[in-house]
Amino acid sequence: MSDNDGKKTLGLRGSRPGQVKQSFSHGRTKNVVVETKRKRVVVPKQGAAAGGSGKAPAGGDPRKRPAGISDAEMERRMKALQAAKSREVEEAAKREAEEKAREEERKRRREEAEAKERAEREREEALKAKAEEEARKKREAEEAKAARAKPTPAAAADPAAAQAAEQRGTGKPSSAPRKKDDRGGANDRQNRGNKGGRDDGRRSGKLTVNQAMRGGDGRQRSVASMRRKQERARQKAMGESVEREKVIRDVQVPEAIVVSELANRMAERVADVVKSLMKMGMMVTQNQAIDADTAELIIEEFGHKIVRVSDADVEDVIDSVEDNEDDLEDRAPIITIMGHVDHGKTSLLDAIRDAKVTAGEAGGITQHIGAYQVTTDSGTTLSFLDTPGHAAFTSMRARGAQVTDIVVLVVAADDSVMPQTIEAINHAKAAEVPMIVAINKCDKPTANPDQVRAELLQHEVIVEKMSGDVQDVEVSAITGAGLDELLEAIALQSEILELKANPKRAASGAVIEAQLDVGRGPVATVLVQNGTLKQGDIFVVGEQWGKVRALVNDHGDRVKEAGPSVPVEVLGLNGTPEAGDVLNVVDTEAQAREIAEYREQAAKDKRAAAGAATTLEQMMAKAKADKDVAELPILVKADVQGSAEAIVQAMEKIGNDEVRVRVLHYGVGAITETDVGLAEASGAPVIGFNVRANASARNSANQKGVEIRYYSVIYDLVDDVKAAASGLLSAEVRENFIGYAEIREVFKVSGVGKVAGCLVTEGVARRSAGVRLLRDNVVIHEGTLKTLKRFKDEVKEVLSGQECGMAFENYDDIRPNDVIEIFEREEVERSLD
Ligand code: GDP
Repeated sequence: MSDNDGKKTLGLRGSRPGQVKQSFSHGRTKNVVVETKRKRVVVPKQGAAAGGSGKAPAGGDPRKRPAGISDAEMERRMKALQAAKSREVEEAAKREAEEKAREEERKRRREEAEAKERAEREREEALKAKAEEEARKKREAEEAKAARAKPTPAAAADPAAAQAAEQRGTGKPSSAPRKKDDRGGANDRQNRGNKGGRDDGRRSGKLTVNQAMRGGDGRQRSVASMRRKQERARQKAMGESVEREKVIRDVQVPEAIVVSELANRMAERVADVVKSLMKMGMMVTQNQAIDADTAELIIEEFGHKIVRVSDADVEDVIDSVEDNEDDLEDRAPIITIMGHVDHGKTSLLDAIRDAKVTAGEAGGITQHIGAYQVTTDSGTTLSFLDTPGHAAFTSMRARGAQVTDIVVLVVAADDSVMPQTIEAINHAKAAEVPMIVAINKCDKPTANPDQVRAELLQHEVIVEKMSGDVQDVEVSAITGAGLDELLEAIALQSEILELKANPKRAASGAVIEAQLDVGRGPVATVLVQNGTLKQGDIFVVGEQWGKVRALVNDHGDRVKEAGPSVPVEVLGLNGTPEAGDVLNVVDTEAQAREIAEYREQAAKDKRAAAGAATTLEQMMAKAKADKDVAELPILVKADVQGSAEAIVQAMEKIGNDEVRVRVLHYGVGAITETDVGLAEASGAPVIGFNVRANASARNSANQKGVEIRYYSVIYDLVDDVKAAASGLLSAEVRENFIGYAEIREVFKVSGVGKVAGCLVTEGVARRSAGVRLLRDNVVIHEGTLKTLKRFKDEVKEVLSGQECGMAFENYDDIRPNDVIEIFEREEVERSLD
């Protein structure tokens, strides 16, 4: 025990002073460490025994050891403790090793990543360096050139040159500017030194030129890589955000939808949609329409939901909301003048407008509805529809009554009530439009207004003078008597009607006239019924759509907008609508196009259904029923809707016991191949009224033996058909088309005027023949040739495929792309049936 004690005490005490002594002569640190380590190993052995018992808090001092513990027990405990301690140490070492390994692994990865990035940077940098190197070489070469050109002192004095020299100092020295370098050498060196100090410190100052270059690049490189990083981050962010924002949409699809619109409705990129269509083997552009089934596949692919809408639903976008009472404002009444032919409708309209419209129209009759506005003395604005006077225009008059607020029934006091007067009364009644009777021609001695009133009574029109409620005014369009009274009567009637509209909403209106205008394209006269039509508005009108390019009012002035009851000519249509079509402003072109396409298809289906019924069943039945009545079928194409309808009306009136005219089809615009096809099927001629067949239609007519006849005056047409129908055909002058030429260029030749440089595209051009000038298949001039030249010589004939010069007699308005129709007249025995 005591031994133990002594040892312990000695060991402890002895080791410490020894250590100190040793360290005294040899240097403290080493010794202390060694001794401490040893001590640490030893001390716990003893101290731990005490600690291990759990009863002695400190040291292995046997004196402090608790009683009842033997030495053997003590030793055992010490051993156990030592084992535990060494285990602990081992574990700590292991942990340390692991930690180190992990750290190394991390470091390695970091280095790898850095190396990668460095490699990438270096690659780019190398490219850039190369480019710079080249640029520098070029610059140097240029400088060298300049230096050679300039005398040396001047170059030295030049500060720019000195700077250039300095730059060269950091770059690759070249032999040419050597002298300069030498001259500014001291300066140069100093600068270089400064530069080094400024930029990168001593190290870069010591670096080689190449390294310095790389150092310079390094700065740029980091900017570039920074940008790349930012770009990557941005793309990542965007990609993530797109995914995050991906919303499943309900996509409305009608029976057909334009690709771009489909993409729009899915809120996807058009290119992506086109791409996936291509993957499905459909090569379509963004402006093409696809059917709903295809659209469904695409919509599913993009993860959206399809909502099929019925075709008719496309019309739902048309604003049909009821107007608010507060938004309503007074509007001008729309007046239609009706009456029997020659009772003075045109004269009355003229008298009211104070202008003449009778002159200047083909055949001298009003062939289409126009409209104008006048203001009465009392300040009321009235909008007049210019109803045509020909009896054949009945159907348009019926339409006119639909937009009409008030009908002025013109009855000539010397003629009284006639068939068309009765028709007019019936139209007005059917449309529930109030009537005002204008008893015209009261200036005539034979005038008998009271007889008119009495006769009207028979048709249930009871005028005020006969104690009824229909206003009647005695007027004279010639003297102007009673006109003011008539206008005031209209104003009073309109006040009773309390006509209102909301100018603030999207416009709606009715087409009162439409035509294919040479130069301006399709033009429609629209009477705005509600809202305000503005330039730039997108609209659908019947089966057509468009964007208002320009608005022209009844004075021929351009206007920016047209409010309720204002008639305007609308430009910017994609096709010619029909009189009576309704115009509606919509929000987008896609909507407008969709509605127009839907209507076109619906109309086509309807026509097909009706056509099938007429041609197959009805025609057969009819042919059987009245065997002895021959039918003369015709097809009518005209430049204006009004003319087409007039012709149809006139045609249907023709007929006797033996023959009847049947209009198979009529429309506006050039004669097309479809028309010819239909005509051939029914053995009908095609009538072109101020329009021509296009080239393909002409060819197919020639092949199929379909007759195409052209007219520009309705009466001529009516007479011809009448003659044909009655079988009273005599020798007649007939036109043969002998050739067509296309105007390529227009020259001005002094003394001759405008000369057309043409290519004869078909047949032959003959000096003596008659010519017509066609623009977009519409006749704009008919006459004779002044010259026909081949090279500089006047010739009689130019054949197809050859070029020639042509000039018209007394006509100058020729333009490139116009077509010249060349025809000859011959006397023939002809038959239409
Ligand atoms: P519309 O066919 O109904 O348009 O009739 P017009 O306006 O063309 O007129 C037919 C003819 O009647 C013309 O010769 C006019 O000069 C004549 N006329 C029209 N109004 C009057 C009138 O108030 N008095 C007289 N004396 N003649 C008239």
